[in-house]
Amino acid sequence: MSNWHWSSLLFCFLVPPTIVKLEEPARYHDTCILFTVRGSPLPTLRWFHDNKELTPNKYVHPDVDYYKDDIEGCLTFKNPTHFNNGNYTLEATNYLGVVTSSVHGHFLNMPFPDSVTAETPKPQEDAFGVFIAVGLATFACVILVILFLLINKYGRRSKFNIKGPGAVMNVEENSTSPLHHVNHGVISPCALDNGSDSVVIGLSRIPIIENPQYFRHGHNCSKPTTYVHHIKQRDIVLKRELGEGAFGKVFLAECYNLSPTKKMLVAVKTLKDLTLAARKDFQHEAELLTNLQHEHIVKFYGVCVDGDPLIMVFEYMKHGDLNKFLRAHGPDAMMLVDGQPLQTNGELGLVQMLQIASQIAAGMIYLASQHFVHRDLATRNCLVGNGLLVKIGDFGMSRDIYSTDYYRVGGHTMLPIRWMPPESIMYRKFTTESDVWSFGVILWEIFTYGKQPWFQLANNEVIECITQGRREPQQRLIIKDIQQKLFALMKAAPVYLDILG
Ligand code: AMP
Repeated sequence: MSNWHWSSLLFCFLVPPTIVKLEEPARYHDTCILFTVRGSPLPTLRWFHDNKELTPNKYVHPDVDYYKDDIEGCLTFKNPTHFNNGNYTLEATNYLGVVTSSVHGHFLNMPFPDSVTAETPKPQEDAFGVFIAVGLATFACVILVILFLLINKYGRRSKFNIKGPGAVMNVEENSTSPLHHVNHGVISPCALDNGSDSVVIGLSRIPIIENPQYFRHGHNCSKPTTYVHHIKQRDIVLKRELGEGAFGKVFLAECYNLSPTKKMLVAVKTLKDLTLAARKDFQHEAELLTNLQHEHIVKFYGVCVDGDPLIMVFEYMKHGDLNKFLRAHGPDAMMLVDGQPLQTNGELGLVQMLQIASQIAAGMIYLASQHFVHRDLATRNCLVGNGLLVKIGDFGMSRDIYSTDYYRVGGHTMLPIRWMPPESIMYRKFTTESDVWSFGVILWEIFTYGKQPWFQLANNEVIECITQGRREPQQRLIIKDIQQKLFALMKAAPVYLDILG
């Protein structure tokens, strides 16, 4: 009798593990794979993602409730992306046995299936399926080749070069310009008749993202109000080369008859590509730049179209681009004279860094007020003048020098992914909020004296880190508030002597 009692008790308490429930991912508060496991003693659990054991982190972790007879829980995902796609296997173990059960999770499609090498396609068992897939791929390739040839013929170089149908909004038919008329500070509807969300400035063709709300009222498309100032070739005397961008060389020059003092130093940007489309882009760019006037946007004086190359004339910013400047004023900087280290340039202090940042923020507040989305804010695209004056100075020409800052996606598209927020990387959505993200990266650049963001990571790893880090655009501060915070920090920081001329 007592023997029976003990064995039945033993039977009650010793139960091998079973996975009673394992559901496909579903959205509750967060996205969740619900599960229930039984066993006595209660099993220990392990999770595997595509056969690799999952280490819980803040983006994927099990939330578990232990009861007397079972374990109930949820494998929780915070804003899962395509990186989370795959098979999820739950393994339950007690000393009576081990069970596993799997479920497939598909969260998002891969943003750049042609370049992000994350998943290896599984072998197709169905020969017909393979045939169809190959046929479609061939068809797509032919279309792409035709598009590529057409774009090469009629288009011109673009920094981002995103050329999906409907993605590029042209101001005029056949124009490949990124430029959008700005009438009295607002963009004319002519530039937005595709329904644009964001307007991009740049000497390159840059796509526009949809938003029908802007500037639907009260603007007359047929009447451009922008008069670009024309400067005569004989009034420009080149002095020396300052640098080279994607569209041509940049020179320091003297310009006559631009100001009452007769002669002034200017930076002239030359356009080496002289196709008709490029000329149109040039014209539109000039109109855009003529209308962008702010103390923290580089001043545009006009164009010179008397001969080749076409020239744009800008104010000369003595210290060149901000990235170079930061590096030259960091702890590792050395002045080299005849190849020999001579002296450092003087390290930037906290107040100066905050000054730099708040000036860029001021330029961005202006751009946002004009509903312009820059899409490529980075220190390489800002310029430094006398007395630590900083301006947003480049709207699309620095790709060549800083080519490692751009990531080639699918052959032609160049993206500055290290400055891009998750939504721009994943969905190519560029907004004022995505510019704010880039400003965050600029702050990091400033405080590291011009280091490349994520310098220790390869591009694919950068994409993974940024998209795993997902910060929603709505959670970002607006640039005005950021500037106020920078001012407050500046007030609180100790003041240094101004070391820069
Ligand atoms: P970009 O074609 O705008 O990328 O310019 C190439 C390089 O020329 C920059 O990295 C700067 O060093 C220099 N540069 C461009 N614009 C100016 C300017 N307005 N004043 C002084 N240097 C400039």
